[in-house]
Amino acid sequence: MRYNISMKNLKNALLLKQLYLLRQLGYRYTSVTPYKEEEPDITLPNTLESLKKQAMECHLCELSKTRHKVVCGEGNPHADILFVGEGPGAMEDSSGKPFVGRSGELLTKMIENVLHISRDDVYITNIVKCRPPNNEAPTPTQAHTCQPYLMKQIELIRPKLIVALGVTAYHYLTGDDTEISKVRGTLHRQNGYTVIPTYHPSYLLRNPSAKKEVFEDLLKVKELM
Ligand code: URA
Repeated sequence: MRYNISMKNLKNALLLKQLYLLRQLGYRYTSVTPYKEEEPDITLPNTLESLKKQAMECHLCELSKTRHKVVCGEGNPHADILFVGEGPGAMEDSSGKPFVGRSGELLTKMIENVLHISRDDVYITNIVKCRPPNNEAPTPTQAHTCQPYLMKQIELIRPKLIVALGVTAYHYLTGDDTEISKVRGTLHRQNGYTVIPTYHPSYLLRNPSAKKEVFEDLLKVKELM
């Protein structure tokens, strides 16, 4: 199944938010009330710092109600490699930084011991910038609502390669539903950028035997750089 990821989702989320607000104020639906669509302000800024600031004010989806901190991303703004995970976990939610928990430690080791570069040389972000409660995978609506932030990050960083960490990141970056075990280590051209999927570090913590596959995938990343 392909998701049509577009600004329309953002517009719909804004519209839905307005409708919920009106309902809270006591308005009720009536088919004869003409609705005049207002153009929502969906222009995103052109620097990573301002993008982060805008994301910190974001209330476009329900994840904003339960988050403690927005985890926009961090790293080298001119990185050749962009790592994209699924969404912040509990430690990321409290620190505001991506991949700082156990899976983050493993990701850092993968970057430093296999790619032989510092974690600060790459950029790390997620499909959604706010923590999904109970560490659930982001829903299509949440992912699509947050998608303009990720697209803007890609546009500003212009990485040579995007490493999709796990099936959720791969799926939302490419629209492809194929199992991660079948696509890991392969290159996918997508809207002018290249995605290489591999297993998510949390999966590796549960299945350490898959580390050798991730090692192979990262060697490929290294070769391509
Ligand atoms: N898992 C993710 O996908 N992202 C994080 O930032 C942390 C854990």
